[in-house]
Amino acid sequence: MFCYLGIDFGTSGARGVVISFEGNMLYSVRYPWEMSNEGNLTTCWQTALFTLLEQIPSELRLQIKAIAINGTSSTVLLCDASGELVDAPLLYNDDRGAVMLERLGHVAPANHTVLSATSSLAKLLWMSLQPSFAEARYFMHQADWLGFLLHGKLGISDYHNALKLGYDVENFRYPEWLEKLQIPIHLPKVVAPGTAIAQLLPEIAAKFGFPSYCLVCAGTTDSIAAFIASGAKLPGDAVTSLGSTLVLKLLSRTRVEDARYGIYSHRLGDLWLTGGASNTGGAVLRKFFPDAELERYSREIDLGESSSLDYYPLLKIGDRFPINDPNLPPRLEPRPDNPVEFLHGLLQSMARIEARGYELLQQLGADKLKRVYTAGGGAANDTWTAIRKRYLQVPLLRSDNTEAAYGTALLAMGGGGESVGGSNAIANNAFPRL
Ligand code: ADP
Repeated sequence: MFCYLGIDFGTSGARGVVISFEGNMLYSVRYPWEMSNEGNLTTCWQTALFTLLEQIPSELRLQIKAIAINGTSSTVLLCDASGELVDAPLLYNDDRGAVMLERLGHVAPANHTVLSATSSLAKLLWMSLQPSFAEARYFMHQADWLGFLLHGKLGISDYHNALKLGYDVENFRYPEWLEKLQIPIHLPKVVAPGTAIAQLLPEIAAKFGFPSYCLVCAGTTDSIAAFIASGAKLPGDAVTSLGSTLVLKLLSRTRVEDARYGIYSHRLGDLWLTGGASNTGGAVLRKFFPDAELERYSREIDLGESSSLDYYPLLKIGDRFPINDPNLPPRLEPRPDNPVEFLHGLLQSMARIEARGYELLQQLGADKLKRVYTAGGGAANDTWTAIRKRYLQVPLLRSDNTEAAYGTALLAMGGGGESVGGSNAIANNAFPRL
């Protein structure tokens, strides 16, 4: 029996998931981040990677046919010709690139996704002005570099990670405007996520007891891996993440971009994954209710009645999607004395914002919403689900799986070259290779 390994390097830790050919999870292992010392960050990643490999039972390791890794989007680094880092990596939320936006604004098309302080390209420009740049040969994303540790090839990336570097995912090339920046470095060669890059390095296969034919495949980013894990796979399928914030992703045959609302599209095979993120969400609920109260009060909500409260729940001023207004004030008044009524108003208002978000994506050209998978802490709330169903008017399903590592294991299965038959084998079926 063959199996497939997906590894997720997320914001709170790393996780490995081994799945069978049928898409069943066979083993899951976690490595939490304990230190925040940037100087040791790549040592920490390397230790995490090899510790995860070691913890997989040896009989399973022997059957792993392909491995893929996802990283956090826009976590980037520079390395020399042998793959050694020349400086500390810049993490996904590092905004030192802000000082490069003016220069970038003269070159990149208006409203391009690279025009953000945390984009990979803004970070690369900032890095190019540091003394350590003289020794740099390759610019890589976190997932690219971790993949290199396993297959030994420098300078290969996937088009999910490369989007915020400016890579043109419509035409599969770096755009001409990027050349005007004249950055003297190897930009990664970009392949489709899940593409088999090379066999596992023989010394690693031997050390950890993997088969010598085990393939290492191109990875993806953490949020796309989580989308793939959900089970969503057809145009009109969406995933709402009810975590600290409200994040919508809708699979569409058309590409939708609108920088005003922070909307852009990732390519997923022949489809486009479009979406937006609102600052409303579970963080506002948590400000007023501990999780246990949330559960109890939610059960007491009378679903036969609609709440008359019309809120825009935010922790602080401003939202971008579905209302683009940096000065939008939180609207949480009037607040009834009864906490059940207050919670009803909050949940219903968030359901309205979610529905407005999907409406906006469709108005901008995305496919008609057909069904919504739900992930995140709020997915467990049946009362909220019932309220959301009233607004969304489509079937709501719980995500098959919410683990990014699981989605990345599915990508590895596609890259492992199987003629896939399992119901979860979306990497090959719904997102065809290019
Ligand atoms: P993130 O990873 O974005 O921090 P999670 O997916 O872990 O978020 O979800 C945590 C959020 O879920 C919290 O903000 C919390 O308020 C919310 N939450 C937890 N339990 C419930 C519930 N029963 N109903 C609604 N929201 C909930």
